[in-house]
Amino acid sequence: MAITSSNLGVLLCLALFSHLAFSAPIDRKGILSLLLDLLTKKNDNACCTALDRFLPGKVSFPTNLSYTSSQITFWSAQEQSLHPSCIVIPTSTQDVSTAVTILNPLPATAGHTDHNFSHTPHAGAANIDGGVTIDTQSLNQVTVSSDQKTVSVGPGNRWGNVYSTLDALNVAMVGGRLSQVGVAGLVTGGGVSFFSGRYGFACDNIKAYEVVLGNGTTVTATSTSNPRLFRALKGGSNNFGIVTRFDAVLFQQDAFLGGQIDQPITNKEAYFDFLADFTQSETYDPFSALITVFAWLQSVPIVTIMHTVTYTNGSASWPPPAFKPLDDMPKLSSSVRKAKLSSFANEIGGDAAISQGKNNFFVTLSFVNNPAVTPEFMKQVYKLVDDAAQDLFLALGLALTMAFQPLPHVLYSKGGDENVLGLGRFEDDLINLLFTVIWPDPLNNQMVYDRMRTLENALIGLAKDNGIYNEWVYLNYASQWQNPITAYGASEVAFLKSVSKQYDPQGIFQKAVPGGFKLGL
Ligand SMILES: Cc1cc2nc3c(=O)[nH]c(=O)nc-3n(C[C@H](O)[C@H](O)[C@H](O)COP(=O)(O)OP(=O)(O)OC[C@H]3O[C@@H](n4cnc5c(N)ncnc54)[C@H](O)[C@@H]3O)c2cc1C
Repeated sequence: MAITSSNLGVLLCLALFSHLAFSAPIDRKGILSLLLDLLTKKNDNACCTALDRFLPGKVSFPTNLSYTSSQITFWSAQEQSLHPSCIVIPTSTQDVSTAVTILNPLPATAGHTDHNFSHTPHAGAANIDGGVTIDTQSLNQVTVSSDQKTVSVGPGNRWGNVYSTLDALNVAMVGGRLSQVGVAGLVTGGGVSFFSGRYGFACDNIKAYEVVLGNGTTVTATSTSNPRLFRALKGGSNNFGIVTRFDAVLFQQDAFLGGQIDQPITNKEAYFDFLADFTQSETYDPFSALITVFAWLQSVPIVTIMHTVTYTNGSASWPPPAFKPLDDMPKLSSSVRKAKLSSFANEIGGDAAISQGKNNFFVTLSFVNNPAVTPEFMKQVYKLVDDAAQDLFLALGLALTMAFQPLPHVLYSKGGDENVLGLGRFEDDLINLLFTVIWPDPLNNQMVYDRMRTLENALIGLAKDNGIYNEWVYLNYASQWQNPITAYGASEVAFLKSVSKQYDPQGIFQKAVPGGFKLGL
């Protein structure tokens, strides 16, 4: 959570503090007395001072090494470029509750983060200038239940940490595909996994959330206790509270097949045909997962196609029928092997590491898979993206990727209406497109955003012309100007707003926490 610092800080801390009188299990009297004292002394940084007093050793200031160490864990240079007045690094749920209780009163311009290699690229998604940022890096427990049916995961984990624990027990959960990505953002925004064909989104497999609400109280949300909050958290992102624990379903998982297959660009038409066939619910093999990335690198004249393939039925041999047509195409290289989950998460994580600390940009859209139209549509998409890449290469050191991910109806409907992603209103098989751009020089930021926005509009127009446009926007891949919450559909938005009014009547996570995608309240 990030809160703006200003001279108003003290006043606002006090103003709202009174609302918390009966809610937070902390030393309220002590906080009040300290804030009054700071107010009297006209302390400019009252909230950070109060946080430091009540959470000794857990608050970092810009001159501390721990502050810098926390800041560099942001994935994108845009997020790293913001400078909170202080960073709170809680080590328990109680610490989070104490911090929120102190910060609750803050002004309408705060931000929020629980960052652990925070992967949302745009500035302010999970960090803030001149405010308070909560970094959950130390809330990194991974506790498997004695019957090995569930795992309690702290929000400050990265997937690599979770998977190394689970691999040792031959179990797995539905989670992210790269080791270094953070747990909390991915799960509260949905979460596409190697296992989504079998079990749906990561959020569909959470059985309980422990959440610190805006008034500092801690609640547990399950299907029977706080069920509306439970549902809202399945896609509702950071709009309701700070999740301090996720209890996820585990399943048995032995080593399985997977790896990266690189192909020459001359395969692209054959690949487009393959993807249109692969993404059909009637024939979709739930054990298979595919991400295909086309990469344009300024320094390399040839576009490469990179497929990450996984087949999570541990007793199958390569290639299973789902991947045979792809595997039969000419290859540049293949790392397909049988290995454990961590091995694949580390492999793709290693490839993506190049973008860390650079300026990063995401934008996404989805289109309906109509095999009669899809291959030709994708050829035209390729041409438009290639044009954009040539324009963007004005920026030195730039890389642009286009990733295709199948979202057949059988996959995205697994969660039924238990999540708020709004996909229940569709019946088509979908293909998700994610564009990422990476570049070193911040002077090129606006040029990149403008060109990518032009590209996005052109692609939407093309999809509409072909009758295959779909309005859904995946929150975890959305750009700063996209509105994934609205794209969940009117009834889900109304539901989310009503849950916000019930659990956050002060609107702390709408106003005092401006980062991320808000509900429009
Ligand atoms: C290299 C890379 C690989 C990726 N791979 C995948 C993938 O395989 N599957 C997939 O679905 N997505 C993937 N993504 C997208 C990813 O899901 C999002 O970027 C997601 O936001 C990352 O979560 P985070 O916790 O690291 O992010 P952050 O930027 O820290 O947080 C994202 C949002 O969540 C909020 N938040 C953080 N912690 C909490 C908390 N404890 N309680 C409430 N709200 C919180 C933040 O305020 C922020 O609004 C990937 C992204 C990158 C850059």
